[in-house]
Order: sequence, then C-alpha cells, then structure tokens
Amino acid sequence: MAHILELGENVYYLPGAVNMALVVGTDKEAVVIDTGGDKDAGRRVKKACEALSVTPTAIVNTHAHADHYGGNDFLVRTFGLPVYAPPFEAGIIENPYLEPVYLFNGAKPLHELTSKWLMAKPVQVTHLLEPGALRLAGLTLEIFDTSGHAHTHYAVKIGDVLIAADAVFGVSVLDKYPLPFGQDIGAQRESAAQVAELSARIVLPGHGDPTEEVAVLVEENLEAFARAANAVAAACTNVGTEGVLKTAADALSLEIKDLPRYYLNLCVVSAYLSYLRETGRVELRLEHNELRWRIK
Ligand SMILES: [Zn+2]
Repeated sequence: MAHILELGENVYYLPGAVNMALVVGTDKEAVVIDTGGDKDAGRRVKKACEALSVTPTAIVNTHAHADHYGGNDFLVRTFGLPVYAPPFEAGIIENPYLEPVYLFNGAKPLHELTSKWLMAKPVQVTHLLEPGALRLAGLTLEIFDTSGHAHTHYAVKIGDVLIAADAVFGVSVLDKYPLPFGQDIGAQRESAAQVAELSARIVLPGHGDPTEEVAVLVEENLEAFARAANAVAAACTNVGTEGVLKTAADALSLEIKDLPRYYLNLCVVSAYLSYLRETGRVELRLEHNELRWRIK
C-alpha cells in the first residue's frame, strides 16, 4: 500500500524527501503536483493512483529544481501526461543541463553537479502556467506567484489547502539548513509573507510536514531568512564571495560536505549578496582583479 495522507477533500500527498501531491477531480482523474526526484518517485505516484483508483491526467510543476520534477519523465512515458510549469522554469525542465550550468557560473559544470539530484531527465512542457484560476480534471486550481526560492515559483491552492512547495520550508528543515535555498531573496521574503495571506487552512511545504499553524510557519521562515541575511552581511569583511560563504557557513554552524552542496550554498550566498547590495547593506568593489564584499 502506497503511503498516502489526506490534506483535505480530494487532496492527498505522498510524504518524502520532497512532498508530492495528488488532487482528485471528477471522473476519478488526478492532477499530480510535483513528481519528486526520479523514476522511483514517479512509480510511487503511479502506485498511489492505483491505491486511490484514480487515473493521473496532468502534471503541475511548481518550479524547475530537479528534486521536484525528476519523476516527470517516468509519468509522461507511462501515461502520456501533459506538463504544466511556470514560464522560465519550463525552459529548465526542457533543458535540465541548465541547472548544473548556472550553479557553475555558466561554464561546463563539474561532473559532480550533473547527478540526478541536480539534473533530471528532460520532458516537454506542454502548457505554461500563469497566476489565477486553472481548470483541470473538472476542478479549479488557484495558481499563485510565489517566486524567490526559484526565479519563477508557483504555489497551488485547492479549496483551503495550499500546496506551497518551496515558497516556505517546514520548520524541521529550517533547523537543518541555516542557509535555506533561495535565488531571489527579496521575492522569497515577499512570497513567504504572502503564504500567510492566502486563507489556507493547511499548508504543505515541499520539504517537511504539512501544518495548520500557518502564521507560525511563515514567521519561522522569515526569521530564518533574516538570520541568513545577517550572517552573510556580517561575513562581508573585504573578501570575495567564497570567503563570505566560508565565514557565514562557519557562523551558522553549517558544515558543507560535498561539491553539489557547496555550489548550492554558493548560489544562496550570491543571492543574499545581490539582495543585500540592492538594499544598501553591503558594497562590492573590484580591486586588483579581485571582488571584495564589505558591510556598510
Ligand atoms: Zn526547490
């Protein structure tokens, strides 16, 4: 029996390292929201559909990080499903090599960055999502722009259930990752705050447990973003970006154990530096062929 939990009327999720959701509409059709990291995750969706006696009819991807769309390939090949994804992210879902490429400054990436964790199999995106109402399987899904964790990131609301994906992280996840992943920190803060304004009874984050304590969840996320911003700002001691990462990670008791995580954290620190410079908290100088970040 597949492990399936109910979030609300006709809304289920499959708990895992990445949560996947199933929304059941009329005629026993189900919309799959995010597909996990690989074909095994896709198989779990298939089994869950069998257990619920429903047929998957479409995939909705919230954003193009490989751990959220890696099951697409299996599900598209097995069921011929249409794939809905946000603009910009769709380009990555169709060209997954872009993720390791952007993590490595646009250059041919280290081979360690091309594992399935950071590079899923490509699938064709058949429909670009846009914020607003989306009719699928006889249901109305509400799509919200919750960008920031990824350059374009959408959350999905069905009735009073919000599938937030990585617009917010579960509290246990924030404890584990003091530099929570984000690509546009200003937008990420606004999106997390917006999650509290959407009148959701229950919120399912992409990582961690669902919660009805929505205000607490949002507050914990905003506090984690503020802690990360302060640590990155304090680390701007006339050093380059790698130096900022080293000092901020040490200050946050974060031990980076492998190259993929190093480059993910370097991306997050870069996002914070960009945000802190835009908001006037740090400055950047190019001196003697070196970039140096300084707190103001
Ligand atoms: Zn993500």
